[in-house]
Amino acid sequence: MPHPSPILSEAQALRCLLDGISPLAGQERIGLDQALGRVLAETLVAENAVPAFDNSAMDGYAVACKDAAREGEIRLAVSQRITAGLPPTPLKPGTAARIFTGAPLPNGADTVVMQEDCREENGYVVLQGPLTAGKHVRRAGEDIAADRAVLERGCVLRPQEMGLAASLGRATLAVYRKARVALVVTGNELVEPGTPLGPGQLYNSNRYTLTGLLAALGCETTGYYRVPDDLGATREALAEAARNADFILTSGGVSVGEEDYVQRAIAALGALHIRRIAIKPGKPLTHGHIQGTPLLGLPGNPVSLFVTFAVFARPALFKLQGRTHLSPLTLRARATFERRNPIKRREYLRARLHRTGDSGGLEVSIYPRQGSAVLSSTVWADCLAVIPEHGTVMPGQAIEVMPFSSLLSPLG
Ligand code: AMP
Ligand code: MG
Repeated sequence: MPHPSPILSEAQALRCLLDGISPLAGQERIGLDQALGRVLAETLVAENAVPAFDNSAMDGYAVACKDAAREGEIRLAVSQRITAGLPPTPLKPGTAARIFTGAPLPNGADTVVMQEDCREENGYVVLQGPLTAGKHVRRAGEDIAADRAVLERGCVLRPQEMGLAASLGRATLAVYRKARVALVVTGNELVEPGTPLGPGQLYNSNRYTLTGLLAALGCETTGYYRVPDDLGATREALAEAARNADFILTSGGVSVGEEDYVQRAIAALGALHIRRIAIKPGKPLTHGHIQGTPLLGLPGNPVSLFVTFAVFARPALFKLQGRTHLSPLTLRARATFERRNPIKRREYLRARLHRTGDSGGLEVSIYPRQGSAVLSSTVWADCLAVIPEHGTVMPGQAIEVMPFSSLLSPLG
């Protein structure tokens, strides 16, 4: 039985956990259409400027500004018609070119007059002078200058990164491979959904919460082990999981009770680094390594499991998958409730954000039952609200919240 160890703060525990994780070796090259949510494993440098040439931002007429420098109506012959995708000839001095959005500006033109601001008559265009040079022209390199690093290694590929890579002409990208995560679920009392419950039994919900969380963060679940509360069986499952996976997540069995075997099995097979953390819910969170494979032992209570996954497993799995930005989005919102947290543990409440009627600012409410077994609180909620250790929150006070839309998304 391991000795009770000092309880780590959340920050200490995160540092310890993240320091022990290196990005996965082994990249993949994938087609751009497969890139959503993957992590870039190369730095993308623009080989060409985007746009590659000066072009028109409007449907209208390309002119040289000096040909329309005086006040009043100016008539210019229309000497050519330039549509997108075709190279123009140089603009004849003293004339205008009919031009369409995205079409290249002819040499000699520096300005586009939008068609709404002029009229065409018998091969001439009539416009109002004087013109300002450069109007309605998109300059070459205005979006991206050539040779600039536009996407950094370690960024997550959202739709806009996919589009930007395509605009540089890239058809494939090097990405980190997905983390293969083994799930080890402990508990004699558990029954799989789809079978009847016996006395004292409950359904194994954590398996599915974890399956969903892992898929949401772009990980692959490689092995699933259901183990009874037994040291030998726990050791066997953990040893096999360590051989096959990049990361192990366990559920339950991490308290210091006589029927909790996960910490003992880790200590026997590898190294146990963290046994307790000063957060609520989730105090018995466990971290270790088995034969080089990092392991996070999540408490069995369904809400504790959900919260500790969000706070600890998420950044750990992001780092493993090569991501450089690990912090979740946090916002500040005014509490609609009073809460006293008398203990030296940071508390995470299941909460919901909404706009206040009059000022339009953000308010946060909490689910009335915050017990660590009340899984319906996580379904009601759309964020976690943070109550500092020894903190008192009064109605109207601004507190920190972490929206699920960022916390539980591969793009977040
Ligand atoms: P443990 O961390 O193993 O002491 O588990 C604490 C409590 O969480 C147990 O008493 C169960 O009620 C619940 N629990 C444990 N594992 C699961 C699971 N896989 N699915 C749903 N509830 C669980
Ligand atoms: Mg248990």
